[in-house]
Amino acid sequence: MNEEIASIEPFAEWIHIDVMDGHFVPNLTIGAPVLKDLKTNLFKDAHLMVSNPEDLIEDFAKAGADAITIHAEIDGDVPTILKKIRELGCQAGISIKPKTEVSTIKELLPLVDLVLVMSVEPGFGGQEFMESSLPKIRELREQNPDLEIAIDGGINAETAKRAVEAGASVLVAGSYIFRSDDREIAIQNLRNSS
Ligand code: ZN
Repeated sequence: MNEEIASIEPFAEWIHIDVMDGHFVPNLTIGAPVLKDLKTNLFKDAHLMVSNPEDLIEDFAKAGADAITIHAEIDGDVPTILKKIRELGCQAGISIKPKTEVSTIKELLPLVDLVLVMSVEPGFGGQEFMESSLPKIRELREQNPDLEIAIDGGINAETAKRAVEAGASVLVAGSYIFRSDDREIAIQNLRNSS
């Protein structure tokens, strides 16, 4: 992983780490110990696609996460978890899945530094971009001119352009960058969409 990160370190601004627990989403990925061993000076956003983020945020903060993003759809006490993330010295993020409306997170916005709009169903890489994410970004941007709004899923040079037009300020891309022949050019293509 560190070799892969080194290949994009000079060009990217953030490392976005998808954490899956095999419960909130079917897949299982990495946890805080792996994040701790990542060698990078980039901003690290841990996207916790897990059912019980309250049990994990302290470990991720200690492991060096700069931002911790949790999901609005969990059963836990989301406002309390978001406050705790900030108390741990991290930026707090809230993410919504494709079927979750923006209205469900309105009251959480004062507690967060970023909103992550999922443009695919979370759990697997390489899925096709869902258009339904764009009106959500537009709605968030119209009401929150200064909010950091990230989009995650199916991002490539073409979908990035539409996401930025809708108001996205952070583009999360996995397959488009890591499966391209030239990662520097792939990242440049995304940057040129703004
Ligand atoms: Zn993600």
